[in-house]
Amino acid sequence: MAYRYFSAERLPADEALYPVSVTLGGDEAHHLIHVMRVREGEPLILFDGSGAEFDTEITHVKKKELTAEIHARRVEDRESSVCVTIAAALPKGDRQRWLVEKLVELGAAEFLPLEAERSVAKAGDAAASRMNRVVVEASKQCGRNTLMQLAEPKSTKTLFSSDFTQAEENAETLKLIAHPNGKGLMELLEAPENQGRRVLAAIGPEGGFSDTEVENALNSGWVPVSLGKRILRTETAAVMVCAAAAAGQD
Ligand code: SAM
Repeated sequence: MAYRYFSAERLPADEALYPVSVTLGGDEAHHLIHVMRVREGEPLILFDGSGAEFDTEITHVKKKELTAEIHARRVEDRESSVCVTIAAALPKGDRQRWLVEKLVELGAAEFLPLEAERSVAKAGDAAASRMNRVVVEASKQCGRNTLMQLAEPKSTKTLFSSDFTQAEENAETLKLIAHPNGKGLMELLEAPENQGRRVLAAIGPEGGFSDTEVENALNSGWVPVSLGKRILRTETAAVMVCAAAAAGQD
């Protein structure tokens, strides 16, 4: 089976120009050259996040970059039919990596790091670049040709404000806040009035949302959703909502 790697540069889409040579550098080239030890003449599948994947053949291998010739381009849509954004407080350490990896596999369109009153992990530049790497790795593995977007972090103050919820781009979205006192997840997702709606789900930190945060969300039109009788960790709750809303509609 051909290796599947990511090109951060958009690849030529005009098939009239094929075969066309492209150069791959950076971490992806390093891995292919020094870990996989690829050779000239080997097949390589590239994707560039545009929704397409490209059949190529490796033509030159150097120390830090390689050249491949594109022969064919295919649009392979492996996206969910429901556009799901998960806004969750960042868990710490390995659980952050696990969360992002699973959201990519399950087809979330976007992940938004949520800065809640009781958040512990920081959603700074270091976390963003770690998460970006996980998005690429998970997309390579699961065959997604469109990258899950990493949104700029937002505070609960912003997310649960009426300015945000009433903005044109968010007004029609089903906005769910995971809270034990809510309605059942499947009941909400399967309700006829919610079919085809974009879903935005907010998941709290390990210490939970504060009463003020919950009150602000409810006043701005967020719908409380229960995820069952047991208290789930932040990342489990996020993955559960994503699995039901995005992967459940594939
Ligand atoms: N001690 C915290 C509390 O009582 O709120 C527990 C927080 S839980 C570890 C982290 C987040 O996951 C919660 O803020 C909530 O958004 C979500 N969550 C976990 N279990 C849930 C459940 N059974 N129903 C709804 N949301 C849940």
